[in-house]
Amino acid sequence: MSDWRPSARSLAKIYECAHAILPDEACGFIHLCGQVILMPNTAPFPRRYFEMATSDILTAYEDADRSGCGMAAVWHSHPNGSLHWSERDRRFWVPNLVNILVANTDVGWQAIYH
Ligand SMILES: [Zn+2]
Repeated sequence: MSDWRPSARSLAKIYECAHAILPDEACGFIHLCGQVILMPNTAPFPRRYFEMATSDILTAYEDADRSGCGMAAVWHSHPNGSLHWSERDRRFWVPNLVNILVANTDVGWQAIYH
């Protein structure tokens, strides 16, 4: 966990991506320079949770390196509006990245960090 936080512009982009993928969970990364990456959710039940393919993750890290920025954060959405980390989420927190959860709550899209 680090104190790094996405800019308002990057956060708005995440919300936009997450909204476009409804009713599935959306997932992706953010580069340190703020670029938001939407990743394919390869879970068998993408409305309930998310998975990323290992090959997609490797490509994403290569792209981050090539951009000269590096990777800052991993994010995913809860279309059901729950702004709470699930048991599964906690198991898959990435220790060296900021973990971001966004949810479509009663008052609009919101984010929490770990
Ligand atoms: Zn989750």
